[in-house]
Amino acid sequence: MKKTVRLFCLTAAAVLLMTAAAGAEGWKFNDEIHFELPDGFYYTGMTENGSYEFAGPNMKVRIYRLNSVRWVEPRQRMGSATEAGVSEQLIRRNGIDFYVQRNNADYTSPFQAVFFNSSGAQYTIDVDSYAASDRTVNDMVSNLVDSIRISQPHVHTLIWTERKEPSCDQAGNEEYWTCSECGKMFSDAAGRNEISAVPVLPATGHTLIHHDKVVSADLSAGIREHWECKTCSRLFADPEGRTEIRDRSWLIIPVSTEKVAEFVSRCYTLILNRNADEGGMKNWTGQLLNRAATASQIISGFMNSTEYREQQNSNEKTVEILYNTMLGRPSDPEGKSGWVEVLEKSGGNNNEIINGFSGSQEFIAICQDYGITPGVVPAGTPRTGIEGFVDRCYREALGRAGEEAGLNYWCSILRTRQMTPKRVADGFVFSQEMDAARKLTEDPDALLDALYRLYLGREADPEGKAHWKTRIANGLSLEELNDGFAYSAEFAGIVAGYGLE
Ligand SMILES: [Zn+2]
Ligand SMILES: [Zn+2]
Repeated sequence: MKKTVRLFCLTAAAVLLMTAAAGAEGWKFNDEIHFELPDGFYYTGMTENGSYEFAGPNMKVRIYRLNSVRWVEPRQRMGSATEAGVSEQLIRRNGIDFYVQRNNADYTSPFQAVFFNSSGAQYTIDVDSYAASDRTVNDMVSNLVDSIRISQPHVHTLIWTERKEPSCDQAGNEEYWTCSECGKMFSDAAGRNEISAVPVLPATGHTLIHHDKVVSADLSAGIREHWECKTCSRLFADPEGRTEIRDRSWLIIPVSTEKVAEFVSRCYTLILNRNADEGGMKNWTGQLLNRAATASQIISGFMNSTEYREQQNSNEKTVEILYNTMLGRPSDPEGKSGWVEVLEKSGGNNNEIINGFSGSQEFIAICQDYGITPGVVPAGTPRTGIEGFVDRCYREALGRAGEEAGLNYWCSILRTRQMTPKRVADGFVFSQEMDAARKLTEDPDALLDALYRLYLGREADPEGKAHWKTRIANGLSLEELNDGFAYSAEFAGIVAGYGLE
């Protein structure tokens, strides 16, 4: 028996309707079918395994013997694993991926057969209906052919989007493919597994490490509290990583000249009980700003100054001043008596109290408030009493700290009263190291500078210096010059400041 199937073009959009002039008697497997094909299509006849094959310029479709496949529920891949295996076999054998979709379980409803050819193009065959009464293979085949529409395949033009790793604050994505024509997205290069959205890989979020505020020990600028991401190394001003620090100079806490000046001013008020003079203010703030001294050293400088010495405060008063200056509060009786004892035992070495207070929370807080470093008074800093005086002679006359043997020698001489402080000072001026006799003729400026510092505790003023230079030019001897300074009221005050006479 021969059947004729006409295949013709339905629309310009190329939805093809293939109809069969089906006989009432239906078809049998081995029926020979003749097709009338549109341009470029041809029927290649029944294959040896019983499928019907259509071919066109870009397609080759086979409708298999329907007893070799099973209808499945809508949108499911065909059959169980075993049956899918059968299907896959067919794919390989014929180069066509084949499965069937039904709208529902009712076999009488229209259903859709979908084909893919080996290059991934999709073909849909809509089967409007077929007889439900007799579900023989023959019926199914005949109804299939009775009303088959073949949609012109839409061949996806797939564009690859590569995988993008997510970063701390930017989502990434798995690789995927998008059809540039229909916009559908797929998770595979063949365009088989359609996906509804870009396969997003969410942002990982920053992993933030906390950096505490730093007030540097060398009085350089500090660093503000901030957070750093371990992953991307970006810096943030808040623990949630919301405010990024793009300008890293924001991190620097500058040393404030004004705050440093306030600190010095406070030392003048609390220690010397007066307002700062211009020269002194410049000297102390300069030392702090230039990192030449820490807060403890500045306080030591005030406490060991000639001016402070001249006030001849009792040990109790000294301790009280240090409580106010370094702890910001009056003393408590127990603490005070303990420190007075320390002061007495050390021969008035108030650096021991300063270093005792320098690590306290109170002093650290005061220093933080002024943006400066607490520090400590280093060993070897000019001390009070005999050691302080000798140390002072070394620094002012020779411009260096005393070596141990020398310090011990001069201290012993003063302690045993073999020499007066004036005579000790003479010893330095007339020493080989100071080389004063040569300087008197060759470099009177340097000699006078040293004498002013040693005996008067200050820098030379231009008028005074000019006066002495004239006298030197007129033949003043070194002894006369030295005595002119050594017998001054200022030097007597300095000596008294060290508790000496
Ligand atoms: Zn497409
Ligand atoms: Zn990060």
